[in-house]
Amino acid sequence: MKFKRSHHCNELREGQIGEEVVLSGWVHSRRDLGGVIFIDVRDRKGRTQTVFDPSDLPKELYETASSLHSESVISVKGKVRRRPDGTDNLKIETGRVEIVVVEMEVLNRADVIPFQIDDPEAAAKVHEEHRLKYRYLDLRRPEMLRNLQIRSKAATTTRVFMSEQEFLEIETPTLFKSTPEGAREFLVPSRIHPGKFYALPQSPQQYKQILMVAGVDKYFQMARCYRDEDLRADRQPEFTQIDIEMSFIDREDIYSLIESLLKRIWKETRNLDIPTPFLRLSYEEALNRYGSDKPDTRFDMEIVDFTEEFKTSQFKVFSGAVKKGGVVKALNAKGFACVTQGQLETLTKLAISCGAKGLAFIKVEDGNWKSPIVKFFSDEEKAALTEKLGIEEGDLILFAAGEWLSSCEILGAIRNKASEILQSQGKLTIPNDQFNFLWVIEFPLLAFDKEMNRWYSSHHPFTAPVEEDVHNLIDNPKEVRGQHYDVVVNGVELGGGSIRIHQPDLQRTVFEKVLQLSEEIVKERFSYMLEAFRYGCPPHGGIALGFDRMIAVLCGTGSIRDVIAFPKTAKGTDLMTDAPAEVEPRQLRDLHVQVNVADKE
Ligand code: ASP
Repeated sequence: MKFKRSHHCNELREGQIGEEVVLSGWVHSRRDLGGVIFIDVRDRKGRTQTVFDPSDLPKELYETASSLHSESVISVKGKVRRRPDGTDNLKIETGRVEIVVVEMEVLNRADVIPFQIDDPEAAAKVHEEHRLKYRYLDLRRPEMLRNLQIRSKAATTTRVFMSEQEFLEIETPTLFKSTPEGAREFLVPSRIHPGKFYALPQSPQQYKQILMVAGVDKYFQMARCYRDEDLRADRQPEFTQIDIEMSFIDREDIYSLIESLLKRIWKETRNLDIPTPFLRLSYEEALNRYGSDKPDTRFDMEIVDFTEEFKTSQFKVFSGAVKKGGVVKALNAKGFACVTQGQLETLTKLAISCGAKGLAFIKVEDGNWKSPIVKFFSDEEKAALTEKLGIEEGDLILFAAGEWLSSCEILGAIRNKASEILQSQGKLTIPNDQFNFLWVIEFPLLAFDKEMNRWYSSHHPFTAPVEEDVHNLIDNPKEVRGQHYDVVVNGVELGGGSIRIHQPDLQRTVFEKVLQLSEEIVKERFSYMLEAFRYGCPPHGGIALGFDRMIAVLCGTGSIRDVIAFPKTAKGTDLMTDAPAEVEPRQLRDLHVQVNVADKE
């Protein structure tokens, strides 16, 4: 490099007029205006206009400038001057000045780039696969850079805050032992121990609990976690969590710690003051009112129960559901009577995919209730609907009837979809910078797996039952609430955690008597934990916040791929490096692994 840069590309202002400066960066754009060439030089901070005037420059330098493709890397030396009258560009912070170039070094000539990155609208239309293949170009876009900056700032804020609160940042191993009861794991064959495998951790759960036994008291980590699941839109096989564990605490301590942390992150990254304490909803209330354990409370459209009103209805679908111990629920999508046939079909398909047989509805139009089922309703039933749902002209009423949980979830999914459609039609407005945080608490400790005919942990097997429910653990597990909490914002689950079991006997009871794991399995997978708990284990609890998801919320993007520098596609591939890839036979031999070709693809 011939010159050393004196300023970054968003630094020069009128105060520097007359100074000789050196800027280094990428050719953002080049315009040839009647002989004078203007090159905007860009770096991470911004961009500055430079001027190549043929009357003042050696021919060779001028020709070099005129031959540069966008995204070439250059260093320019020149004098800062005020832009001529009427040519200010107030869209950029350096827009009142420009640099009259006297020397330039081309550090790297760029080929013609595969897609345009200097125009946000054009960039938004580029296919995501293309962006991922050329991620280094995609990341040069200011929108992507902003996301990485917010991410970095949030990570720094977390570290500063946690260290102020006297937490120790401790790294736990990423070569761990397989714990197959959770999500599917990535396995790493051991070369030194033929036939044995490490697993990449799904979370540092067990290590962080052991750290409490070790007396660490307050632990945190920006933990990389791995889950080999079929990917959904907002999932990645590797992701980052702010992982936390503390000793001698109860649920309230976690709530206030996380509220303060999130408040600080929102303030530092977005300069927004989020109100605390957060609202708390029990799992049951969240499902009853919003049909979801991660409710978006930025809009109403609450679900209302009509079980009592329809228990003897002539409409057998409803009264039949109640007879079987089920419920009847409905919601009012205000102003959505204009629903098209296509939208109604979409909603019905959605309801069916959540377990409904169909989707009963009433459109309130021209003073009439248009619906195939209203003819079965009595006057009292109609009056109850009108009153409890506040029915008015233009509304669309949607129903679910059947088992409690699935009826809630059906209407929860409908509520989200209907709000999306209403928003796209401008009938519902949700401000961009509104963040409705809340805690969901009082989850059931266990859920029943009908296929396997056994109970499994709603959160994980280390979650402590609510103390006054412990006596029900064996005989009436359904009634046991867990000391588990989730933190939710705008319909997104940011994270969750629990107070843990710290008594070895209770933990063994949960493993063996409640979850019905065999003695051998418990010994093989958890003996070190149960043993550790016998040598002085403090009461403890913790939480993990999904860092990628949190950054996506902060950045206002629907996709976590937009906030991860090098994400995987929905098929788990890295399009830039082409991972995963085949390996040399020699490597497989060393690892004592044989590939069964018949299984491939
Ligand atoms: N390990 C849990 C998870 O990854 C969080 C926790 O319980 O702290 O979801």
